[in-house]
Amino acid sequence: MEKKSTPIRNKIVIIEDDPGIATVLKTTLKSEGYEPILAGTGRDALTLISSHCPDVILLDLGLPDMDGGEIIEKVRTWTQTPIVIVSARNMEEDKARALDAGADDYITKPFGTIELLARIRAALRHTCTTAENDEISLNGSYHVGELCIDYRKNRVFLAGRDVCLTPQEFRLVAFLGRHAGRVMTYKAILRELWGPQNGMDNKILRVHMASIRRKIEPDPSEPRYIFTEVGVGYRMAE
Ligand code: CA
Repeated sequence: MEKKSTPIRNKIVIIEDDPGIATVLKTTLKSEGYEPILAGTGRDALTLISSHCPDVILLDLGLPDMDGGEIIEKVRTWTQTPIVIVSARNMEEDKARALDAGADDYITKPFGTIELLARIRAALRHTCTTAENDEISLNGSYHVGELCIDYRKNRVFLAGRDVCLTPQEFRLVAFLGRHAGRVMTYKAILRELWGPQNGMDNKILRVHMASIRRKIEPDPSEPRYIFTEVGVGYRMAE
């Protein structure tokens, strides 16, 4: 008898106290070939994460027994497993805080299956490549559409033409490019550009971004390279 090989299934711990949502998530992920593991409380979640070593963690920020931020901090003391926040709308501050505490991404309720699966695939990709961005370490540049960030020349090209960013604008674009596909919070960007004690305000980022978009986006009102995550930060297209 020929032995059938079993594919390795990515384990996903779902931390969600709403039984309805938890069931939908579980069924969806199972049908996509993932191995979902449910936790209804923060306490259960921490036990399951340490015993199952999941590939991705889906974390609802509104749990009965623990604050989402507390869970992230605890998990981050022993593992870098990607954490995708699942949260309600109008919780931008909480999302930003969770990302700054070490979460990797977020989706907003209500969300569609396509969006959920895309976020999980992105999270899995980012675990497999611990280097920030493969293309950059390999070629010294990052390409998306007609945009090219050249990390050797410190320049950005659009359809082969130098878009002439200022040094500060370049650093902002370069930072987002290194983390393409992931949302970078305002706080993380400010820290990267001006250091931890910067005392700067998000307004400065909006000013820079408006200028960058005039240079790199064919239509700055409908960005295709750098997206705004309202109230949270920016995300470079992948
Ligand atoms: Ca909840």
